[in-house]
Amino acid sequence: MANTIELEVVTPDRQVFSEQVEFFSLRGLGGELGVLPGHIPLFTGVQPGVLKYKRDGGGEGWITVMGGFLDVQPKKATVLADAAERGEEIDALRAQQAKERAEIRISRENQVDAEVDLKRALIRLKAVELAGKIRH
Ligand code: ATP
Repeated sequence: MANTIELEVVTPDRQVFSEQVEFFSLRGLGGELGVLPGHIPLFTGVQPGVLKYKRDGGGEGWITVMGGFLDVQPKKATVLADAAERGEEIDALRAQQAKERAEIRISRENQVDAEVDLKRALIRLKAVELAGKIRH
């Protein structure tokens, strides 16, 4: 077994992910942030984006994280996200439809919440695209 850190991703509704990983990266407040086992304690905000991780023993995976907080301890990292989905859970058609709805609302009403919905849909579509390119 490689040197690993436990990664847990939770939302107010459920535990999305809990596995030992060799590495993961996500968008922290200051930009892309990579975490390896033994990382010094860190607490930071998380920006909406795709969390990428390397499985214990190889292979990559993706989790969409719609903002929240990251707590890193040397052996365990916890992401408290507003919403999150494992790559294989994402419904690509639903994300595509959410994107189109948001684009229409932006063009008609220029609403800020439509911008947020569009961003979420684009992140989900990006994760679907990543999962399609690299099988794990
Ligand atoms: P939609 O308009 O399609 O409902 P939304 O932007 O309103 O999307 P969110 O508010 O971001 O959705 O999330 C609501 C819940 O639905 C969360 O639990 C989220 O994980 C889940 N969810 C949203 N979109 C998808 C998707 N494309 N595939 C899987 N789960 C999704």
